Amino acid sequence: MTMAIHSYDALMDITARPNVVFERGEGSWLWDDTGKRYLDFIQGWAVNCLGHAPAAVVEALTAQARRLLTPSPAYYNDTSLKLAKALIAHSRFDQVFFTNSGAEANEGAIKLARRYGALHRNGAYEIITFDGGFHGRTLATMSASGKKAFEPLFEPKVPGFPKARLNDLASVERLISDSTVAVMLEPIQGEAGVWPATDQFLQQLRALTTAHGLLLIVDEIQTGMGRTGKLFHYEHADIEPDIMTLGKGIGGGVPLGALLAAAHASCFEHGDQGGTFNGNPLMCAVGLAVLDQIANPEFLKSTAETGLFLESQLQRLSARHGLGEVRGRGLLLALDLKLPAGPAIVAQALEQGLLLNSPRPDTLRFMPALNVTREEIAQMIEALDAILIKVGAARLVA
Ligand code: PLP
Repeated sequence: MTMAIHSYDALMDITARPNVVFERGEGSWLWDDTGKRYLDFIQGWAVNCLGHAPAAVVEALTAQARRLLTPSPAYYNDTSLKLAKALIAHSRFDQVFFTNSGAEANEGAIKLARRYGALHRNGAYEIITFDGGFHGRTLATMSASGKKAFEPLFEPKVPGFPKARLNDLASVERLISDSTVAVMLEPIQGEAGVWPATDQFLQQLRALTTAHGLLLIVDEIQTGMGRTGKLFHYEHADIEPDIMTLGKGIGGGVPLGALLAAAHASCFEHGDQGGTFNGNPLMCAVGLAVLDQIANPEFLKSTAETGLFLESQLQRLSARHGLGEVRGRGLLLALDLKLPAGPAIVAQALEQGLLLNSPRPDTLRFMPALNVTREEIAQMIEALDAILIKVGAARLVA
């Protein structure tokens, strides 16, 4: 075994990270620089929808890299045109703007809504968002987020994001004024701990926004691209949002996001939006390869079935250990621990070669690759079972 020496200090210290340095990944597995293997139920935060280093992504990257990296966003490139066409064919939207991250897609959605307000609603600019929501870490997307920890940061925030409560239509209605142009939400609040908007709430929200002439923006950065068993989550509620943002899964592990809009809402004018790497063919080639696999009805069916299997296994585990509910849909699930044991469980799991996430101290979140196998799920459940016994026993002793 070789002992690697890393200068951790060379990176800005923006979050508490364990002293593990990953070197290699394959499917549901990661290896660190000591050769230790980890079963990954985080997958880059719901990013690697086809697992680590899938052949489709590697092949798309290498083939595109040999052909064309980027001709500049001031020109069309064939790959981004193909991906835009494919996304439109698979969704209810008419036009696409590609981004390099989820936050950038949401920043674009906010600008697009404000442009719509300037053109069609006498300069209305407010976008109603939700307590607990998470839309990214640019200044505007932090302002749009309803994350408590963001509240004191980077004042003054970007104004114009009044907060309603998820699944409470009256709380949205109360905030609507002449200044309102849109309502924006995650169909499942992922970072807050996997809190789903009900299908009924999404339908009511669509009816309410339509009645008031407002845009409905769905942030599907975590829920989109097959994560919940449908290509896009809004399909579960059978609604037609005006704007959708994608990130994470669309790149299958590379930085790619997208802002999609229905024709009436796609109102950017020249000079409103752009960016050096936006729509670069290298990332778009990966997006095409990922979409090609995920949009396959058989793949989506299998993801939905795997999600139900994971859900049932988590429910059994919960019953066995006297834990709380299992929330979420497809392969975006959370287990309520009823106690703030999340950080201890995550630390134990890491030691034993299992990557788990605790978005809040009383919750574990599961976001494996969409092609995770039942055997891998069984392995994770077995390891978690043992950890729960250990953590539970430690709690009793303490
Ligand atoms: N929106 C949602 C729902 C997210 O889950 C995230 C990331 O976790 C973002 C936006 C921000 O995406 P990115 O980190 O790619 O900027």
